[in-house]
Amino acid sequence: QERLRPLIAGNWKMHGTGAALEQIARLKTLLQEAGDIESEVLICPPATLLDRAARRAQSSAIRIGGQDCHADPGGAHTGDISASMLLDAGASHVILGHSERRADHGETSDIVRDKTKAALAAGLIPIICVGETEAERLAGTANQVVGEQIDLSLPDAFGETPIIIAYEPVWAIGTGRTPTTDDIAHMHAHMRNLLVARFGTAGESALLLYGGSVKPSNAEEILRTPEVNGALVGGASLLADDFFSIIVAA
Ligand code: PEP
Repeated sequence: QERLRPLIAGNWKMHGTGAALEQIARLKTLLQEAGDIESEVLICPPATLLDRAARRAQSSAIRIGGQDCHADPGGAHTGDISASMLLDAGASHVILGHSERRADHGETSDIVRDKTKAALAAGLIPIICVGETEAERLAGTANQVVGEQIDLSLPDAFGETPIIIAYEPVWAIGTGRTPTTDDIAHMHAHMRNLLVARFGTAGESALLLYGGSVKPSNAEEILRTPEVNGALVGGASLLADDFFSIIVAA
């Protein structure tokens, strides 16, 4: 199989005010100095920064994404943001079903599927997050849990939009702990099999990102793991120099 173009995505979560935009400017400089970079680079700042982040990223390879969207195209949903609003603010991608959304906001896989449909309808590229808890891994049910999340969180049709899944074991997020590369390879192979069985060639070309405590020191090893086509990076995406090291490692 030909090598898929890796995606290195940064998830800023609820971090950053206007001053954080300097990190985008810095990353732009680092990327320009480096010249040819194989990976696609994405930063998902808080919604309040989207528009300004997109302006800062202009005429660079950096793309901008949202961290969530509502399943409806509009309406009486105070505090929520629709997919087309993200697009209008300059986003190309949107993270959906992050474990923090699933835990903090009771997002089920059914809700994530509806949000994914909304993102696709608006012309955004969804990045759908899945991953087991530590208790589920210890109980030996990680494959089953992730399989169910993939089954339910993905709609049946993506059209021409690439399928992007981020495997983020909940116990590895923000903890400094990571699965072994063998465990990552096994889970990614499992996900690939499910996606190929359901989507055929679109499953073969789906990007399978790993997320959970990716940092400059472990990025190369993780990104070299079979069936890993990129990373979703939280903490280490906040500083441009750290994030750049991870981009280069891909
Ligand atoms: C995340 O929450 O998407 C994530 C990967 O976080 P961290 O890199 O900080 O573990």
